[in-house]
Amino acid sequence: MTIRIDGGTVVGWSGTHHELIPEGSVLIEGDAISYVGTERAKHADQIIDASGKLICPGFINLHVHSQLNVGDYLITDATKRDYLSANYFVFGAPVKEKAAPPPPESVAIGRRYALFSALKNGATTILDPGGGPGDLGEYVEIVGEIGARVFFSPPYRSHDIFTDAEGRHYYEARPDGGRPALQRAVEFIRKFHGAKNGRLQGILNPAQAETCEPSLLKESAAAAQELGVPIHIHAAGNLRELVEILYRYRKPAIEYLADTGILKPGTILGHTVFIAGHSRMDFPFGDELKLLANSGASVGHCPHKYAKMAIAAESFDRYVGAGVNIGLGTDTYPLDIISEMRYASLISRLVDRKYYGARPDRVFNAATVWGANALGRDDLGRLAPGAKADVVIVDLRTTRYGPMRDPITALVEYGSGADVDTVLVNGEIVIEKGCSTRIDEADLYARADAAARRAWDNWPKRDWAGRSVEEILPPAFPTRQRERGLP
Ligand SMILES: [Zn+2]
Repeated sequence: MTIRIDGGTVVGWSGTHHELIPEGSVLIEGDAISYVGTERAKHADQIIDASGKLICPGFINLHVHSQLNVGDYLITDATKRDYLSANYFVFGAPVKEKAAPPPPESVAIGRRYALFSALKNGATTILDPGGGPGDLGEYVEIVGEIGARVFFSPPYRSHDIFTDAEGRHYYEARPDGGRPALQRAVEFIRKFHGAKNGRLQGILNPAQAETCEPSLLKESAAAAQELGVPIHIHAAGNLRELVEILYRYRKPAIEYLADTGILKPGTILGHTVFIAGHSRMDFPFGDELKLLANSGASVGHCPHKYAKMAIAAESFDRYVGAGVNIGLGTDTYPLDIISEMRYASLISRLVDRKYYGARPDRVFNAATVWGANALGRDDLGRLAPGAKADVVIVDLRTTRYGPMRDPITALVEYGSGADVDTVLVNGEIVIEKGCSTRIDEADLYARADAAARRAWDNWPKRDWAGRSVEEILPPAFPTRQRERGLP
């Protein structure tokens, strides 16, 4: 099968950087790109007319938990005054006695909905650090069905986090040290790495820096090397983690990870906000940013999630300037990688008080080639002969954009995932005219809505104080009571 995308502005690749090709053409043969330029001489089985549109490399979203926003909705739980911005403690630290796995049907819907939502919003490659625990064969089938390129294996850790009856958090060592779960992840990768025409890719997911003991991280680094896959770990994401690692190992998160040998090219650190030099860290020792840059590890930067909690990394530009490879992830809903570029840009400018900061080229690179570098893939995040045929076509002819001079600046300043018109992954059209070519979206949404409502309605059963969602997070406005006598 050959496909030619004609017209529009192509974001091509010079060999070292993106470049614009007005009235361009992209030729796709099988799962790869064979030509990018202005010629239209070669025959193609199908021609996509992209006149007036922007033809981008598929974006790379480095942080999509394959689950619904059930817990994420409660991220700004103001009653958790001791959680020190460890946002996942709100929903990921159950009361031990009440901890029950979610029903398999809800897990499957969460996986399907999150992966599809990220894809529809422009991410052809998705890093999934783990959603609900569930059947792994089914996960692979969902990836096959949705059509995205996904890096995944089930997460593991040596220490769990719980909340006691008074609402206090505590860590508890697992009797098995997390080793059976690591083994399960290794077996998953051995079995499924490369499945679905290469769209399912293995990555090891030791969960969080402070929930993984040094020996588990050493074993993870060795296993990743043997398997030839990258690693993702949440690190320097909150102050609770800093305190835990500092008290246990007498060093901050990045130093801790460096000393285990896990900090190297092919390792991606989710968030990495609270490092030495951050205004909310009282840790005036060492240079974690330099350590990070010298190690060759990458950062998966999720600015929108942190902005919700009144926190910013300091700053996107400072990390880039220090030589750290930085990609973008959404983490929180909406899973919209195009809007995330704008958050990265604006928040970096605010932090640095620098009008001319975090320019569109930088954040576009972060969402494309730098994300690909993080995953060790030079055939993703760029439109060049030999690269995988992962393409996102964005419709710029809307009042949202209006007249423009530079489509990349316009995309970063004005764009959203809702403007995505067509998505190709591995040379297959998976989104066409804004809709899936593979699944019934209305049915998926209805099932996701029902599963989320069920989970929210049952929230008091798992909350340490038995509170409802509305008690934890009051709605913006009260709801008028239904008047008597009306249907
Ligand atoms: Zn995460």
